[in-house]
Amino acid sequence: MLPGVGPAVTKRLAKLGLGTISDLLEHRPHRYESAAEEVRIADLLAGEQEVAISGEVVRTTVRRPRRRLAIVQSRIADESGQITAVWFNQAWLAEKLTPGTHVRLRGHLRRNEFNVRSYDLNGASATADFAPVYPATEDVTVKKLREVIGRALHQARDFPDPVPAGVADDLPLRADALTALHVPRTPDDAELGRRRLAFEELLVLQVGLARRRRDREREEAPALSEPGELTGRYRELLPFTLTMHQERAIEEIDADLARPTPMERLLQGEVGSGKTVVALYALLRAVESGRKGALMAPTETLAEQHFLTLEEPCRKLGVEVALLTRSVKDDPASAQILVGTHALIQEGVDLTEVAVAVVDEQHRFGVGQRRALAGAGSQRGVNGPQAEPAALSNAAASGGSGVEQRRAITGGCTPHVLHMTATPIPRTLALTVYGDLQVSEIAKPPANRKPVTTAWVTQERSGEAYRRLRKHLDAGRQAYVVCPLIEESETSVARAAEREAERLREGELKGYRVGLMHGRLRPAERRELMAQFKARELDVLVATTVIEVGVDVPNATIMIVQEADRFGLAQLHQLRGRVGRGAEQSYCLLVSRAKEELTDSALARLEALVASTDGFELAEKDLEIRGEGQLLGSRQAGLSDLRFTRLRSDRKLLERAREVADTLVDYDGPLNDEVDRVFAGQDVQA
Ligand code: ADP
Ligand code: MG
Repeated sequence: MLPGVGPAVTKRLAKLGLGTISDLLEHRPHRYESAAEEVRIADLLAGEQEVAISGEVVRTTVRRPRRRLAIVQSRIADESGQITAVWFNQAWLAEKLTPGTHVRLRGHLRRNEFNVRSYDLNGASATADFAPVYPATEDVTVKKLREVIGRALHQARDFPDPVPAGVADDLPLRADALTALHVPRTPDDAELGRRRLAFEELLVLQVGLARRRRDREREEAPALSEPGELTGRYRELLPFTLTMHQERAIEEIDADLARPTPMERLLQGEVGSGKTVVALYALLRAVESGRKGALMAPTETLAEQHFLTLEEPCRKLGVEVALLTRSVKDDPASAQILVGTHALIQEGVDLTEVAVAVVDEQHRFGVGQRRALAGAGSQRGVNGPQAEPAALSNAAASGGSGVEQRRAITGGCTPHVLHMTATPIPRTLALTVYGDLQVSEIAKPPANRKPVTTAWVTQERSGEAYRRLRKHLDAGRQAYVVCPLIEESETSVARAAEREAERLREGELKGYRVGLMHGRLRPAERRELMAQFKARELDVLVATTVIEVGVDVPNATIMIVQEADRFGLAQLHQLRGRVGRGAEQSYCLLVSRAKEELTDSALARLEALVASTDGFELAEKDLEIRGEGQLLGSRQAGLSDLRFTRLRSDRKLLERAREVADTLVDYDGPLNDEVDRVFAGQDVQA
């Protein structure tokens, strides 16, 4: 129970994930009020500079111009004049802004209205200089949070400090860092506190990764012989020469495969940069040494896509490929390469002969599945496929004894694993998230590509976007239209997509051949649809985000993304990667709601996409807009626990944590408990 907090507030705090005192202590302010200049209403100037005004409410109204948008407008007066102050989507405020209420507002003047960023009603201190600002919700106000966190701070010293003495003596103690975080005297004070907490979480992460590296060095994998006849024929089969980057990745993979310890390598590169070509090479290396390869994808659609891609070259090479998903189950026994979703590992397929496993888009997997895959190869001759690899690998991930145990039972080998990701990751982040992996990077796509031209229009002008799209169709090209993202069930997404396709067939795309692709289609239907689109029997593919990855049709040169403001930056970049795959100039048209309705971060995302097609640059930008914790989704190893780190500026701290981590692998103390908690949590979650 939190001290001095009633049951109602406790419940509301719990909804924000703030159930304990340490949750409160570690709830990071997302910013601090800067020192804002106090201005008379008559002297307000338009601009981005944040200023403060004080006055009294004259009257308040709420407008609802459309569903999901509420605008509170309050006329504010001081001795110099009056101004209309505006809040978006905080309708509950209206009843508090009664005439006569004294307010202090911080914000800026935009089109003769004062856009409010923070506010005090009747003398509360929310707009004070350096006051911490926590993400506000209707349930718990910033003011309430400041109050309960202030009280929690009295108990900060009761919690153990995971950073061992002598490791970071130049940084403040944990309790002092927490105090500085929540009640800083100066901005520097807050920053020092944050850095101390960042170091702690980086240390925990690096010690966990160091454990994994050590564990893996103790595992065994089949050492493969030199590249042979089959991969030789594969190279000859390719209608192009491999780029320098692809060749280097192959070299690095070959070196890993020759060793008797499991490869754990990340193959990183933009969409369309040629990773799959390299991945197939790795799979064929397993086949030519008399073993199997497995390719795992996060979704059925993607698994099918891969299957379609691999099928043809493999047929020419005389290599048998099987597709294994929830709905399609080819016979895996005779296959030399297995392609599937993680059902592959979860529904009891015997993977004992798999020497090379490729895990695509691995950030979509929990670490647990990664580990389970690594564990699956070692089930040989024990309990068979029924054994519980996740449990075993859990033990392996959280301590040395797990590995000993596993080897004792199985005496077996772990497969070599190649992780593929098309999400470009800033280097510092890669060190953190994939700190236990080696990295191969395909830094440049094949030379014949032109960067996609991106434009952004608002809903009112979407007619122009469709006009442009029809021009491409009339010139014999093909197009994608991506449906709005609705965060509901797959079924309702599918239904909405059906309605949208119908609307387009009657409207903007009348007279064109329009196909509809969504996650609810049966695999056979999806395959048929893709085959039709590839064969140019369809002009337009209306799709949900299922086309995000894997679809490869070079004749498709234009894409419209509807309600683009609802998508994440990385996701939009991925979507955009579906065009620009041939030598033609391609276009991506982002359609969003009106600018006034967009959040700052939505604006920043759309602007970034228009400005750049460089995935690494965009990833950096995303990092800036969103903060580290969410870049790859909260399931990513350790990342969800990076609350204080700013990788862009904390590189030195990261390197320092990495340096000491190896010496702390066996350290016994609160640090160890914290590593167990973070890493065990990660693995179980999957
Ligand atoms: P990724 O898996 O990184 O998205 P793919 O391996 O699927 O990329 O390759 C994308 C497209 O580029 C495919 O059509 C592939 O045949 C082609 N491609 C791959 N490597 C090269 C290359 N070196 N030169 C020309 N085209 C290539
Ligand atoms: Mg591909």
